[in-house]
Amino acid sequence: MIEINNVTKTYKLGAHEIKALRKISLKIEPKEFVAIMGPSGSGKSTLMNILGCLDKPSDGSYKLDGIEVKDMNDNQLAKIRNQKIGFVFQSFNLLPRTTALKNVELPLIYAGKYNRTALAQEALELVGLKERLNHKPNELSGGQRQRVAIARALVNKPGLILADEPTGNIDSIAGEEIMEIFQNLNEQGITIVLVTHEENISEHAKRTIRFRDGRIVEDRQIGKRRSAKEELKILLESEEYKNNNNRNSGNSH
Ligand code: ADP
Ligand code: MG
Repeated sequence: MIEINNVTKTYKLGAHEIKALRKISLKIEPKEFVAIMGPSGSGKSTLMNILGCLDKPSDGSYKLDGIEVKDMNDNQLAKIRNQKIGFVFQSFNLLPRTTALKNVELPLIYAGKYNRTALAQEALELVGLKERLNHKPNELSGGQRQRVAIARALVNKPGLILADEPTGNIDSIAGEEIMEIFQNLNEQGITIVLVTHEENISEHAKRTIRFRDGRIVEDRQIGKRRSAKEELKILLESEEYKNNNNRNSGNSH
């Protein structure tokens, strides 16, 4: 599905050159679930932008489903982004004055699809937000906003989901809920590439790739993965325990 060969990305800032990626080679097969790790500035987001066809390599080859991305024009790239790839960002990137339903309908408008309301509703149900269709982002918790963003990423039924630090701005229970959705989607055959700096989040994936200074320094399969479903059960039980012992503590979830 993804085949990257000797990809380099250089940013020019005036006379200055920043080598964000240095000859990266990488293959990701359909139905993989990959966590990308590494310190800040190591090139993770640069890689995600290239994988998502939001940016092109300075050098090297990127083939998505066998097609060389640098040979495509802007229209073709926009079409691929809309049809094949779902994006999820740390800061949700929802339209603020627009309901959950309308936010999720947007990619369907670009795709020129009919019965958008039904499809958007279906995607929101899938992420557990059936009761929140007409809420605007500021009427939702962080975790719920991220689930709206996932519904939006899903609505065109892409084969690939790219998520850049999707749990970076939410609490740990909401984070597990997001990981549960990703694990379910992956079970259904969707390929997932997720950037995170949290070890416990990365252990929900099947494979981790670690970056440093624009290079891959580790690439391994995860033997024993975490199950978000099981983690959630434990977290919710301990939360319940806490609430039972301190009934006045507000529910921040
Ligand atoms: P990460 O996501 O791992 O934190 P990035 O891919 O965002 O890292 O950045 C890698 C390097 O490229 C950093 O040194 C960063 O400052 C630089 N960089 C990223 N985007 C740009 C840009 N648009 N212009 C110039 N430099 C950039
Ligand atoms: Mg980043």
